Amino acid sequence: MIRSLLIANRGEIACRIIKTARKLGVRTVAVYSDADAQALHVRMADEAVHIGPSPARESYLLGDRIIAAAKATGAEAIHPGYGFLSENADFAEAVVAAGLVWVGAPASSIRAMGLKDSAKALMIAAGVPVTPGYMGENQDPEHLKSQADAIGYPVLVKAVAGGGGKGMRKVEASADFIDMLASCQREAAASFGDDRVLIEKYILSPRHIEVQVFGDTHGEVVHLFERDCSLQRRHQKVIEEAPAPGMTPEVREAVCSAAVKAAKAVDYVGAGTIEFIADGTEGLRADRIWFMEMNTRLQVEHPVTEAITGQDLVEWQLRVASGEPLPKRQDELAIDGWAMEARLYAENPTAGFLPSTGPLDRLRLPDDVRIDTGVYEGGEVTPFYDPMIAKLIVHAPTREAAAAKLAAACAQVEVWPVRTNAAFLTRAAADADFVAGRVDTGFIERGLDVLVPTAEPSDAVKTAAASALIKAPTGAAWTDLTGFRANAPTQRRVAVSVAGSVHLAETSATAGGHVASVAGRDILFLDGEAWPLGPGRVDGAGGGGGASDGAILSPMPGKVISVDVEDGQAVVRGQKLLTLEAMKMEHGMVAPFDGTVTALSVAAGSQVAEGAVLVRIEADAG
Ligand code: ADP
Ligand code: ADP
Ligand code: MG
Repeated sequence: MIRSLLIANRGEIACRIIKTARKLGVRTVAVYSDADAQALHVRMADEAVHIGPSPARESYLLGDRIIAAAKATGAEAIHPGYGFLSENADFAEAVVAAGLVWVGAPASSIRAMGLKDSAKALMIAAGVPVTPGYMGENQDPEHLKSQADAIGYPVLVKAVAGGGGKGMRKVEASADFIDMLASCQREAAASFGDDRVLIEKYILSPRHIEVQVFGDTHGEVVHLFERDCSLQRRHQKVIEEAPAPGMTPEVREAVCSAAVKAAKAVDYVGAGTIEFIADGTEGLRADRIWFMEMNTRLQVEHPVTEAITGQDLVEWQLRVASGEPLPKRQDELAIDGWAMEARLYAENPTAGFLPSTGPLDRLRLPDDVRIDTGVYEGGEVTPFYDPMIAKLIVHAPTREAAAAKLAAACAQVEVWPVRTNAAFLTRAAADADFVAGRVDTGFIERGLDVLVPTAEPSDAVKTAAASALIKAPTGAAWTDLTGFRANAPTQRRVAVSVAGSVHLAETSATAGGHVASVAGRDILFLDGEAWPLGPGRVDGAGGGGGASDGAILSPMPGKVISVDVEDGQAVVRGQKLLTLEAMKMEHGMVAPFDGTVTALSVAAGSQVAEGAVLVRIEADAG
C-alpha cells in the first residue's frame, strides 16, 4: 500500500480523498493556489505546497509544478480527483514517468475515451449500443446539415472534445441547424480548443443512467450498479440517486454488462463511469438505452454508489493503484436501500442562477446526513473555481424515505450572505413527480416556475419572520402595530421588514424557521431560503393611535432604480412603490397597508444610505 499521497485538486473532493487516506494511515500532501491559502483541504492535509496564483491555469492545471511538489515532499502517489488534470493523458504519463504512482485511469484509456466520436466508434466495435447519429470526419457545415436532416429532428450537436455540459446545442428544425452549429463550434473552440462536432438523435424523455465500473491491474473489471442523474439544469447534474427509479433486473443486467464490456474494451484500471442515455417514454427498456460517453475518473456523484454498496471507492482507488486486486468480486456486491445526493451551489436561482461569491459568514449544514464539503463557516466562496459548496448525501431503506430525507436536509441549510440553491433543491426533492420517480432531463426546465423561489417573500416567510422576531427580538426589524392587535391573545399583527420591504404579518405559534444574527444583521432561515430582515420601517406606528404614518426606510445602502408612484397617489397594500438595488440584488419596496403616498423623497438614480426615509405612506382614515 502506498504510504503518502499528493492530492492534485481542491475543494470537497480533495477533502474527501484526505479522509480516506487518513483512515488508511496514508500521509497526505495538499497543493493550493493563492485564493486557497486558508482553504479546508490545506488545513486538513498533513502538509501543503503553494503552487501558484489563483486562476486554475496558473496553479491547479500546471502538471509540472504538481509533480515537483510531490517530489519535494516525498509523496509516492498522485490522486487527481475530478476536473482539472484528472482526464489529462499527458499528465498521467508524466506522473508515471516521474516514478510516481498515478491514482487515475491509464493514459491509454483516457485517450481512447477522450473524444466522444472515437469513443463511440470503439464501443460499436466492442458491441455496445451507442446513441444513433453521425460521428464522421467530414465537418463541412452543409454535409453535417444533411446528416442531421437524415437523422431527423430534434438533434443534439456535441463537441467531440466536450465535457461538463458545455459545447452542446439542441436543434429543433433544419432551418436552425447552420446557426446552432456555428454557435456550438465557437463554444467548443473556446472551451476545448477543438471545434469538431458529432450529431446525435435527441432522445425523447431522456434519462441519464450511468454505471460505476472499477478495474484492477490484474485484468478484473466489476460494476457497482447504476446511478440516475436525470435531474439536470443545462446538461449539468443537480440531484443524483442510486439505484435508478423504475430499473428492472433485466435492464440492469443489460446496461451493467454493457458497461463492463466497455471498460474491458479499453483495458480499464481504477474508477470509471459509463454514461448512457435512455429513452424513458415507456419506462426503462434494454433496447432503448445507449452509450453516451465514458468519464475516466472518480465522479462527483460517487457517494450515492458508496451508500448503497457500503464500499469506500477512494479506498478502492488507492488499493488498485497500489497493485492490489479489487476488494470485492462481482457476486459479493449488492444494493442496499436508496441513496440520493444534492449539489449545493453558491448561486442565486431567483436571479437566473447567477453564481454568488463572497464570505460564508454563516454556513450551517445538517449533521444527520453525509456532507462532503470543502468550505467552512468564516471562509469564503471565491470566483475562481466551481461554485459547489457541498454535497448532501442521504441513504434510506426506500426511495420515498430517501427523497423525504433529502428535502429535509436541504431545508436545514443556512448560508449567508452567499446565496445558494438550497430552497430550489428542497422543492425539487419534495416535488410530487420527483417523489413518484417521474424524472427525465427536462424535469427542472419544466418545473422552474414552482422550483425557483420568488424574490418577494411568501406569506409563510412573513409569518415566520414575524413570529421569530416576536419570540427573540434581536434588532429593530419589527414594529408592533398596537392598533392592529388581533383578538386572539397568541396572535399578533406586526410590521416586519423582509428583504427590503415592509409587510404586515400575523404571528403564528407553529411558524417554521428561525432568525439568527449574522455579521450584525438579522437573517431568517426557512426551508433553505435566507431572508435579510432590515431595520423597522414603519415608524411612529402605535404612537399616534395606529399605523398612521408608515415610513419606508432603505434596508441597506443602495441605489433607487425606479419609482413607481407619485406624491399624493393612493396605493393599496402590497403595491410596488419603488425598486432599490442593493447588494447586487433588486428589492421591490411595497406599501405596508392601504393609504396615500406622502413625502416621496427619492427619484430614480438616487443613492440612499441605510435607514434613509424613502417615502411615507399615510394610512387611510378609518
Ligand atoms: P460529473 O458527471 O461527475 O458531474 P461533470 O462532467 O459535471 O462530471 O464534471 C465534473 C467536474 O469536472 C466538474 O467540476 C466540472 O466543472 C469539471 N469538468 C468536467 N469536464 C470539464 C472540462 N472539459 N473542462 C473543464 N472542467 C470540466
Ligand atoms: P458531457 O461530456 O458534457 O457530460 P454528455 O455527452 O455526457 O456530455 O451529455 C451531457 C448531458 O446531455 C446528458 O447527461 C443528457 O442530459 C444530455 N444528452 C446527451 N446526449 C443526449 C441525447 N442524444 N439526447 C438527449 N439528451 C442528451
Ligand atoms: Mg457526461
